[in-house]
Amino acid sequence: MKVPFLDFVGPYEELKPQLDVAYERFMRSAWYILGKETETFEQEYAEYCGSKYCVGVGNGLEALHLVLRAWGVGKDDEVIVPSNTYIATWLAVSYADAKVVPVECDARTYNLDPALIEAAITKRTKAIMPVHLYGQPANMKEIMAVAEKHGLKVVEDNAQSQGARSYGRRTGSLGHAAGHSFYPGKNLGAFGDAGAVTTDDAALADKIRVLRNYGSRKKYYNEVKGYNSRLDEMQSALLRVKLKVLDEWNKRRSVIANRYLKEMKSAHGLVFPFVPVWADPVWHLFVVRHPKRDELQKKLTDAGIGTLIHYPVSAHLSGAYEDAGFKRGSFPIAENAADTVLSLPIGPHLRDDQAGWVIEAFNAAVASL
Ligand SMILES: *Cc1c(COP(=O)(O)O)cnc(C)c1O
Repeated sequence: MKVPFLDFVGPYEELKPQLDVAYERFMRSAWYILGKETETFEQEYAEYCGSKYCVGVGNGLEALHLVLRAWGVGKDDEVIVPSNTYIATWLAVSYADAKVVPVECDARTYNLDPALIEAAITKRTKAIMPVHLYGQPANMKEIMAVAEKHGLKVVEDNAQSQGARSYGRRTGSLGHAAGHSFYPGKNLGAFGDAGAVTTDDAALADKIRVLRNYGSRKKYYNEVKGYNSRLDEMQSALLRVKLKVLDEWNKRRSVIANRYLKEMKSAHGLVFPFVPVWADPVWHLFVVRHPKRDELQKKLTDAGIGTLIHYPVSAHLSGAYEDAGFKRGSFPIAENAADTVLSLPIGPHLRDDQAGWVIEAFNAAVASL
């Protein structure tokens, strides 16, 4: 049996009738950028997250970058980021000309460790950018407490966690702002690049609306040096269809994750995902750790099971941050994650028999290591 890491055909087949209607409506409107579809999606997505405002932008990286720009974060400023994340989190800070200050993650949740934030704060610190990695919400209660104590802004990187909850509240509504990615592989995935900012701050939302559109409110009247980063009408129309099924599809991911957690056998050196009691994850990824990760991956590949590594190189050891002077050993938990993590197939269109095969093959592979 073949089990792809993620199925992109299943979602299309399930939603084809609704997607066709949305596409036709978009085409007939003959309006491609900043129109009704995007406006409506913004309202619907803000409501979904429990935020007052949503501003659609080109992608997740730009959502995070524009929030920092709108706050005036720039040269000589520092932004605290998790040591373990997709590099886009760090790049958003670098694009704003600010300095990334990584803080080590919690070894069990892979998310920013709130207890270590305070030691990284300096006079130049302007913001904290926690990531809800792998669909697991970061501990926003504790992160916000530290931020408030030091007067810092918090922008959540919610690229991987649309629909997750932390202490009962949706991620994307827990900081001062949040950046979302609708990259096709995310839980709410578009059919191309797409992203959004959510916030309760009217002035911030307004600034980002201006920044995303060449710095103009009125065509050809450019108030500031803005960018071109707009969520387009076609993606908005199609995202509206997918937003309607997001909760249901997240639930299907949970069913698979719970089955994995129950039926996969523990073994020496093997680490399963950990979910804190206050967290309600959306299982963007199901990430295990094993010291013989590469062998495990090969055995699963041989069994027809697609797996991926998120991420094989820690941001601080990547070529992109060579000039920042980090060394191996700078962030041992993140480095250990890079060396040992493996993401197993999970998604709303993974069938029961496929999940069963993943479990059987996984247990056999682990036992033979
Ligand atoms: C995908 C992702 C991003 C960037 O989103 P894009 O839409 O690809 O720009 C940012 N942060 C994290 C954690 C991501 O997984």
